[in-house]
Amino acid sequence: MRRKKTLHPLVRIFLSFLFVAALVSGYLLYQWYQRSGERTTRLWDWLRNPGENTAWMMVAGERCNDAPFAFPTDGFIGFLWDDSFRPGHRHQGIDIFGGQEPGITPVYAAYSGYLTRLPEWKSSLIIRIPGDPLKPSHQIWNYYTHLADRDGLSYIESNFPPGISELWVEAGTLLGYQGNYSGDPNNPTGVHLHFSIVMDDGDGNFRNELKIQNTLDPSPYLGLALNANQNPGEVVLCEKTQDE
Ligand SMILES: [Zn+2]
Repeated sequence: MRRKKTLHPLVRIFLSFLFVAALVSGYLLYQWYQRSGERTTRLWDWLRNPGENTAWMMVAGERCNDAPFAFPTDGFIGFLWDDSFRPGHRHQGIDIFGGQEPGITPVYAAYSGYLTRLPEWKSSLIIRIPGDPLKPSHQIWNYYTHLADRDGLSYIESNFPPGISELWVEAGTLLGYQGNYSGDPNNPTGVHLHFSIVMDDGDGNFRNELKIQNTLDPSPYLGLALNANQNPGEVVLCEKTQDE
């Protein structure tokens, strides 16, 4: 005679827990793909052959629909604000891929302000804007990074050496060139500019730019659909509100 097998209650609880965990992670992965997967696919299309997809390119200096900021560099906007590169991650800025080798595509100031480069910054600089053009009583900071090659050799213009602080620069000033510095020479990024708008801490310093909570949605500043939550997979381009 065979005894009917029953599962120990603890095993049952464990199995139901596994089932729920699988459902939740499946849902999160799906959400993640919806948010950024299509963009990743399109970015590869662009990087493989930028010349064939020039219609996807934004042009440096263009000011879209009277937005306060000028577009800082040439290229395809590969990733948006609040995109996610892995489940749980939230991107704090936009990534603009020039489609060229490192050190070729120029990067310009999107808006006038006071430039600072910390002594240890190889690929980054930040520009303080005393009066936010959209909220004049607030101070904000424009952050530019990946302006170095994979080994950390800087592409930032020589007039902005490490340690420089509070130097006035006009919108349109050449800051440097797009690079692929990641901190790990064996694993460089694609050649791009990462641009973000960082909030002030209230004491005249910028907040930690790595946290999305410390950054602003760049859409209204550049006149473009740059919020990943509102733009699931469209190529971001300047949509003219009126014919020229
Ligand atoms: Zn980025």
